[in-house]
Amino acid sequence: MHNSGPRIEVIPGRHLVGCTANSVVVVSNRGEDELNSGSSTAADLAALLDLVRDAVARDGAQPAKLVARAATEWAIARGDDVDFGVLVPAGDGIGVFLRGAVTAVLPEGEPLRGSDAGFTVDRVVRGPLRAIGLFVDDAKPAIPAEQGVSAVAEGVLPGSGAVLWFTPPIAAAPPVEASDTRLDRTELAASAGARVRGFVCPAGHLNDPRSPMCAACGQSVDRTSQSLIEGIRPPLGALLLDDGTSYPLGADCVIGRDPARSEPAQRGLVPIRVDDSSGGISRAHSEIHLVDWDVIVVDRGSTNGTHVRMPGQQDWHPVGAQRRVAIGRGTEIMIGSRVFRLVGVNG
Ligand SMILES: [Zn+2]
Repeated sequence: MHNSGPRIEVIPGRHLVGCTANSVVVVSNRGEDELNSGSSTAADLAALLDLVRDAVARDGAQPAKLVARAATEWAIARGDDVDFGVLVPAGDGIGVFLRGAVTAVLPEGEPLRGSDAGFTVDRVVRGPLRAIGLFVDDAKPAIPAEQGVSAVAEGVLPGSGAVLWFTPPIAAAPPVEASDTRLDRTELAASAGARVRGFVCPAGHLNDPRSPMCAACGQSVDRTSQSLIEGIRPPLGALLLDDGTSYPLGADCVIGRDPARSEPAQRGLVPIRVDDSSGGISRAHSEIHLVDWDVIVVDRGSTNGTHVRMPGQQDWHPVGAQRRVAIGRGTEIMIGSRVFRLVGVNG
């Protein structure tokens, strides 16, 4: 716990930054000339700050879960044309909620990008953590060397983002988690049995809140009169290999010609071994991450790269080394000369 509360540094810019209750909200200004209180950017920020205040009033120790739930519902109702991020206390860490072109930056390791998620990013980043930044994507997202000096006070300022500094740093999680890798710390939800929020169909299947039809039984899902509920995430479809082998996506996996003893397999990713006479597959070539309701392809810096082809398209596109690409049903993934296709749970 950090009793004194974080310090904040607002980075100058043309978007809006709001602070309340040791939390920060950043909303992208998508082109309004004046960000007065009547602008839609200011109205969005005010709504999000209200939602944070309400969550803190209801659970001051760990408001992040309530914020994520309320922000998801708000984002669904608000529609596509808003990009925002929220940093909020979450017990022994910081809750990060991102929608659209907003990125959270950590002092070490890979940033969390709202644009990588099909819908939203909802994570708790755990200690050790001395700072975290939140930026609209047209800024240069980086944590400055100088530490911010003002306490987090209620208010709204123009800015491209903000950095929260924790003095003393948020401590490491208990030993079982401290031995985890950075990826595991920031992506706990990516493991098997992850809990996600969604809507249920008449048969009780939990579904992606973006989906109007149940992925398991095909019935239509009521998304207007029911609230989001939390439950164990069902498999997010399956990877269908070109020889007809199907691999259900219930957990993160690593694909290669000999992935079983690779570093990602030791981290707990499920190894999927594929043969390739062309010699174009690395031992641990690509990773598939399940993040909330999204399936994400990551190339592991393989010699020959990983390529994806979206449904109905002619061209294959490379997944840049160490970059991540969210894919939907029907997308093909080419690794060496082998091709997987992402299919629904029922094929
Ligand atoms: Zn169903």
